[in-house]
Amino acid sequence: MDKKKLQIALYWGAACGGCDVAVLDTNEFILDVAAACDIRMWPIAADGKYKDIEAMADGELDLAIFNGAIRTSENEHIAKLLRKKSKTMVAFGSCAHLGGIPAMANQFNKEEIFEKAYLKNPSIQEGNAAVPTPHTRVEAGELEIPVFYKRVYKLDDIVDVDYYLPGCPPAPEQVKAVLKLIVSGGPLPAKGSVVGASDRALCDDCQRKKEEKMVKQFHRPWQILQDPERCLMEQGILCAGSATRSGCGVRCPNSNMPCRGCYGPLPGVVDQGAKILSAVSSIIDSKDPAEIEKILEGIQDITGYAYRFGMAASLLQRSVR
Ligand code: SF4
Ligand code: SF4
Repeated sequence: MDKKKLQIALYWGAACGGCDVAVLDTNEFILDVAAACDIRMWPIAADGKYKDIEAMADGELDLAIFNGAIRTSENEHIAKLLRKKSKTMVAFGSCAHLGGIPAMANQFNKEEIFEKAYLKNPSIQEGNAAVPTPHTRVEAGELEIPVFYKRVYKLDDIVDVDYYLPGCPPAPEQVKAVLKLIVSGGPLPAKGSVVGASDRALCDDCQRKKEEKMVKQFHRPWQILQDPERCLMEQGILCAGSATRSGCGVRCPNSNMPCRGCYGPLPGVVDQGAKILSAVSSIIDSKDPAEIEKILEGIQDITGYAYRFGMAASLLQRSVR
C-alpha cells in the first residue's frame, strides 16, 4: 500500500449494481483513478474484507463512495463502519441519495414483501417455500443472515454524508468529473452539496419544443407515435423534467423516453413526488370532475410514477406501518 495515494473504498448497499457499472463506464479513466488511489474495498471489482476495514484506524480512508440504500442490518453496519473509517463520504446514485427503486418497497410491509418473494413466487418449487430468518440452527452450528428492516432508508438517515452524487445511475461523465476533482485534490464544494448535477430543472436543458401543456389524455410511451421534436408532457406522456434536477445530459427525453426523476428534486423542494403530481395536475385540460377522473385513469401507478426514486426521502417515507 502506497501511503501517498488516496485511500478509497467503494461499497454497495441495497443496490442493483448499476452504480458500480457507471464507475466502470468512465472507461480508461478508471486506470487514472487506480494509479492515484489505493482501492481498499470494492466488492464488485476488487477484494477487500469487512475485517480489513474494521482493522483500519478511524479516518484512514480518504473517501468512501457508498451506493445503494439501507435495507438490512448489514447495509447499516457497513455504512456506519465506512463512515467511521473515512474522512469523506459520498452518497452515490439515487438509492443512497433518496432511497431509489428499493424504497418503492416502502409501499408494502415486510410480511407482504416476504410473501411475494418467498412464498408465492412462481419460481418456488411446491413444498419448498421458506422465509429467511436471521438465525437458523443447523448441525454445524448457527447460521446468521442480515436482518431485513421494516423499511428502506436513504444513506443520510443512517450516517452523516458529505456529498451527494445523484442519478440512477449517475452519468459516467459526471462520475468522471467528480472523481477527477477528488483525485486532483482541488477545492471541494461545501459539505452537503449535490455534486455532478446542476441547480436547473431538466426542462431548462431539454431541447424539445415547448408550446402549450394542456392534455385530455395520458399515454404510456409505447402507446402513441410521438413527435420527437415536441415536449413529451404536451403529448400526454408523463415526464418528470420540470421537477427534476438537470445534469444527466437529458438522457431520457433525448432517447424519446420521459424523465422518471432519478436526479432528484431541485434545490429547495422538500418532496419531489408532490412537485411531480403538481405538474401533472396543472396540465389536465378540464374543469369537470368526472372528466378529470377519466383523464387520470390513463395514468398507471401514480405513486410509482411520482415517488419512483424519492419515496424514502419524501414526506411519506413509507405508506404502510
Ligand atoms: S417535460 Fe420532459 S420532454 Fe418536456 S421539456 Fe421537460 S424534460 Fe423535455
Ligand atoms: S432524464 Fe431523468 S430519469 Fe433520465 S437519467 Fe436524466 S434525470 Fe434520470
